[in-house]
Amino acid sequence: MLGIKQPLKIGLIGLGKIAVDQHIPAINAHPGLKLVAGCSPHNRPAGVLAYDNYAQMIAAHPQIEAVAVCTPPQVRHAIAAEVIASGRHVFLEKPPAATLGEAEALKGLAEAKGVTLLASWHSRYAPAVEVARRWMQSRPLKTVTIVWKENVRQWHPGQRWIFEAGGMGVFDPGINSLSILTRLLPGRVMVRTADLHIPANCDAPIQVEMDMVSEAGVAIRAEYDFLQTGLQTWSILAESAAGESLVLSLGGAVLEIDGKTLAQPKEAEYPGLYAHFLDLVHTKRSDADFQPLRIVADAMLVGRRIAAPDYIE
Ligand code: NAP
Repeated sequence: MLGIKQPLKIGLIGLGKIAVDQHIPAINAHPGLKLVAGCSPHNRPAGVLAYDNYAQMIAAHPQIEAVAVCTPPQVRHAIAAEVIASGRHVFLEKPPAATLGEAEALKGLAEAKGVTLLASWHSRYAPAVEVARRWMQSRPLKTVTIVWKENVRQWHPGQRWIFEAGGMGVFDPGINSLSILTRLLPGRVMVRTADLHIPANCDAPIQVEMDMVSEAGVAIRAEYDFLQTGLQTWSILAESAAGESLVLSLGGAVLEIDGKTLAQPKEAEYPGLYAHFLDLVHTKRSDADFQPLRIVADAMLVGRRIAAPDYIE
């Protein structure tokens, strides 16, 4: 019938933890989306028609219109470039690529091909981020502190790619905090110093302490730790020039202002991301903001390498 849109037909590339935990349920729950098939070298999640690679998936299902790339970042550019070249829309898991150059190249390819590119940052869709943003942008700030500490053995078992070159180490979760930070603050964030603790048997940091500054001169301190046991922390704290305080915790789910917790809606990061993706496709637009990746790249440029003990899972 005229005016009624058919569901967008989606394929998934990389059927690992995030595809299974979030993408598959979010796509299946959205009436405007249809999961057609997926591909991955080994994983075969129940209920998904799965192939070994993109070429096989597309040969079997040429009707696929859009693809979500949920692989580790090291292989993302080559895969996404192939998808864009085939004229399909692309939803990139975070980080959008292993390097800024790769991310920019994908943006250019998508523009040239006239397809939608979403560089997704799921943490920006955490329930309290927009309320925190309004608070932070409506008063002068004094300091911002990021404390992002989790146990890699608990959250990333078997994910060897995280500590390989291009895997980003503790910046893999840490970049989520930077995606929120760059939503909360106006202007650019510049990295001044970074201590990168890199295990002798790894290529990426396991702990990072970083000092940044916003264009408005707000001092920003970030502490990332992949070896946290006990209480896990994904918090951003801000202090205004007038002494008021904001604490955004549990990755953006909980908000406390001047010691008082404010009620928030239920967590719905991936449903929010997919609704945004669908809107971008329908309105023929892209959303490709690489600022969080640029901050990580800058930290790697100015950071001091500090030798850390071997990491054995
Ligand atoms: P993961 O569990 O290791 O899954 C990655 C999957 O990608 C694996 O199943 C692997 O396939 C597949 N893969 C590897 N190379 C491939 C290729 N060339 N073609 C197709 N598939 C390939 O990792 P993950 O946790 O899902 O993370 C994936 C991405 O999502 C990362 O960028 C991560 O930052 C992001 N992310 C993760 C989380 C989380 O909570 N885990 C949250 C948000 C975002 P096989 O196993 O079949 O060999």
